[in-house]
Amino acid sequence: MTDNRAVRLAGLRDALARVDLDALLVTALPNVQYLTGFSGSNALVIVTAKECVLLTDFRYATQVEQEVGMAATVRIEPSSLWIGLWSVLQAMTGVDRIGFESAHMLHRDFSRLLDQGSRWQWRPQEDLVEVLRERKDEGEIAAIEEAVAMAQKALDTTLSRLRPGLTETGVAGILEQQLREAGSEAYPFASIVASGPRSALPHARASDRVLETGDFVLIDFGAVSRGYCSDITRTVVLGRASAQQKEVYEVVLEANRRASGAVRPEMTGMAADAVAREYIDARGFGDAFGHSLGHGIGLEVHESPRLARTVEAPLATGMVVTIEPGIYRPGWGGVRIEDDVLITESGGRVLTSFPRTLLEID
Ligand code: ZN
Ligand code: ZN
Repeated sequence: MTDNRAVRLAGLRDALARVDLDALLVTALPNVQYLTGFSGSNALVIVTAKECVLLTDFRYATQVEQEVGMAATVRIEPSSLWIGLWSVLQAMTGVDRIGFESAHMLHRDFSRLLDQGSRWQWRPQEDLVEVLRERKDEGEIAAIEEAVAMAQKALDTTLSRLRPGLTETGVAGILEQQLREAGSEAYPFASIVASGPRSALPHARASDRVLETGDFVLIDFGAVSRGYCSDITRTVVLGRASAQQKEVYEVVLEANRRASGAVRPEMTGMAADAVAREYIDARGFGDAFGHSLGHGIGLEVHESPRLARTVEAPLATGMVVTIEPGIYRPGWGGVRIEDDVLITESGGRVLTSFPRTLLEID
C-alpha cells in the first residue's frame, strides 16, 4: 500500500505558507489520524515546515509505533501532553506564529495556550486539514468500499429477520451484531431504526416501539473499516405497501436517482441539493424535505463537503458524499434513501449497490 501521509503533510505545509503560519497545532483526533496514522484517543500533533511531532501517552507506546512509523517524530509523555508540547516548541527555531484548530479545542486548553504558551503567537484556524480530507485517495476509497460492503451484508441479514413483534431496538441489536460479524470495527453512530409514524423523525433513535404490519421501517446506519465510515439508509415496508406509501417512496427514489446521476466535479453543493429538492417540490412534497441532501464521509461520518442549499463550494474528483433525500410526514411516516457516491471525472459513481426498489417484507 502506498503511504500518502507525506503527500498530506506537504498539502498542509502549502496551506500553512498561504496563511502565513509557521506551524499548526492539531488537536482534532481525526486530523491526527489523517496526518500520522495514529488512531489513539489522546494526542497532540505539531506540524512545521520541516517537522511533524506527535505527543501521546504511555498507554499507546506500542500502538503509536506500529501506526505512525516514520510519518512523525513520536514523544511519549509521562505526565501532560501540554508540558511536552512546550518543551518541543522551545527546542524549535523559527516557529513563532502557530495556528490552532478553533473548532477542536476546549476552552480549558485554550487557556493553557494563553498562560504557559504565551511566548508564541496563537492564531485561530478552521478546516486547514478538513479541506485536505475532502478528496480521498485510492486507499481511502478502498476502505470506504469495504465499509459499504460490510453494511450491505449486515442489512441483508437484518431484513431477512424483520417481522412484526420485534422492537426497533431489537432490530438495531440484530443489525449491530451483523455489522460486527461482517468485520465492522465500530458503529459510526447509534443505528437509527424508526418504524411506523416514528419514521417521520429524520434523526430518530431506535425505541421500544413494536413493529406492526403495514409499517415503514427506516434503517440508517453504517460500518467502519480501517477507520473509514459508510452511511446508508433504506426504508422498507412490513407486509404490503399502501398506494400512498408507494407514491411517497417513488418520489424519494426518483430524487435520489436524479441527484446521484447529476453530481459531478465543479457542481456546487447548492446545485446538487437543488436537483433533488426541485423534483420533490414539483411533486408537491417540498415542505416535507427539511434537511440537506448530503455530506462527505471518511474518517468521520459527517465531514466536509456538504450538499446543502447554502453551499457554494464545488465538488471535486475523489470526494465521497452521501445522497440522502427524504420525505417526512408527521404522524404518518417517512422515507429516506441514502447512498454513498464517489465523485469521478465522469460523474458520480454510486458505491452502495443494495437494492433501492421498495422492499415489502413478508
Ligand atoms: Zn445516514
Ligand atoms: Zn448521512
